[in-house]
Amino acid sequence: MTNDREFDAIVIGAGFAGVTAARELNARGLRPLVLEARHRIGGRTWTDTFDGVMIEYGGGWFSPRQELAMKELGRYGIPLVKDVLPVPEWAVFPTGDGKLESFDGGEALGRLGELLTIIFERSDELLPDPHDPLAAGERIRAVAGQSLRERLDGLELAPRDDKWINTLVAGFSGGYSKNGAYEALAQWWQLAGGELAGWITIEGQAPASGMSALAQEILNDAQARLHLHTPVTRIADDGRLVHVTTASGKRFSAPVAVVATPTNVWRTIDFEPGLPAAHAEVAAQGISVPHSSRVWLRVRGGFGPVHVRDDEGGLLTPMFTHAVLDDGEQLLTGYSQHPDFDPSRPDHIRDLLARLLPQAELVAYKAHDWGRDPYALGGWALRRPGQLFRLPELQQPHGRVTFANDGIANGWHGFVDGAIETGFRAAEQATVIASR
Ligand SMILES: Cc1cc2nc3c(=O)[nH]c(=O)nc-3n(C[C@H](O)[C@H](O)[C@H](O)COP(=O)(O)OP(=O)(O)OC[C@H]3O[C@@H](n4cnc5c(N)ncnc54)[C@H](O)[C@@H]3O)c2cc1C
Repeated sequence: MTNDREFDAIVIGAGFAGVTAARELNARGLRPLVLEARHRIGGRTWTDTFDGVMIEYGGGWFSPRQELAMKELGRYGIPLVKDVLPVPEWAVFPTGDGKLESFDGGEALGRLGELLTIIFERSDELLPDPHDPLAAGERIRAVAGQSLRERLDGLELAPRDDKWINTLVAGFSGGYSKNGAYEALAQWWQLAGGELAGWITIEGQAPASGMSALAQEILNDAQARLHLHTPVTRIADDGRLVHVTTASGKRFSAPVAVVATPTNVWRTIDFEPGLPAAHAEVAAQGISVPHSSRVWLRVRGGFGPVHVRDDEGGLLTPMFTHAVLDDGEQLLTGYSQHPDFDPSRPDHIRDLLARLLPQAELVAYKAHDWGRDPYALGGWALRRPGQLFRLPELQQPHGRVTFANDGIANGWHGFVDGAIETGFRAAEQATVIASR
């Protein structure tokens, strides 16, 4: 058993929540030990290159309205590269009965923008302070159980409008709009300024050095001992110390632990004593969308920048041009929320491309499947209907154990900014616990 006092706190997981917690613990005079399951840090952010172009398999973009993330970029002198996405000249959108049709890019995306404005109308009354999602009291409680599908049903949109906006909100909800809470997406809208111009800034601006480099800068500042390739399987709190056991049977103990894994992973860790009711409930449901793959496709075809959306339940939607390359080929990026999507099969990717964009010839592709990744078990967080009620409990420590991840943020839940927010909170809580 390792039970020296070379560290005062154990941080489990080195995603943005974990590295922030570690740095802030160090800033408060506590020496952190970071245990990370993978061979790399960064969690659901992962920078790579594809034929010399920098790509992200997970979180990649920041909005200037994400103040905590902006502060981190400023602190480490990393600039945001603006407008990295080319404007789509054309769009492929669903028309009904499983059919897809081509539209002018401005027309299709312009209509989507108008529809977003319609579905989030008066969301400022539900979320007067978007960083405090329960601030409106009864008003927000009255809709917190409502799904995005129910919100759309209440609007009685024209069939094509309903189909178009539904493919967008279903994507954010993990494939089906019945699974995403209306209040959760309305909160994103309000955080982005409550208008389309702000919403658009959520995508399309990236840190010049990539997300992994920013996570590394934060971790460097933590002066932490880091153990990679160290999955944690058990966390036992005896009231005086927290004993953390790894898959290889190693045990580390400290007066406090920060569990900075995704909520979806809590169910794979043996907690002693068991998790409180709210934590156990969301651990079973998951807050992150359950299936999430990110695909990067190099294609040739002699067409301009494009934006493709399939119907709800589609295997790869959305997919859009990320860059037009020097030789005229394009780098497309696509998202899948479907359990049957299998990025390990090139024939599967080719068949999908033939349906969605027959003009495109696949040259090569790269992908990561976050849903099948045992240390993510899903993609970004988006609360399910009713989960907002649990948020205050989920942010509380459990004995000597505190929690941090993008799903339990007050502000930008489902984003790196939210993960950073929870890292700050968990470090503050852990410092108090360690002093007892
Ligand atoms: C496809 C996709 C696109 C996205 N796009 C954006 C975007 O553009 N902008 C944005 O801001 N956000 C985006 N997000 C969301 C963003 O990536 C996440 O919100 C954020 O990275 C979550 O950080 P975290 O620290 O909470 O969790 P994670 O990054 O998941 O970190 C948790 C860490 O815990 C480790 N871990 C898990 N289990 C164990 C264990 N048992 N023992 C030890 N360690 C363990 C994991 O390996 C991981 O390193 C996207 C996510 C996905 C999947």
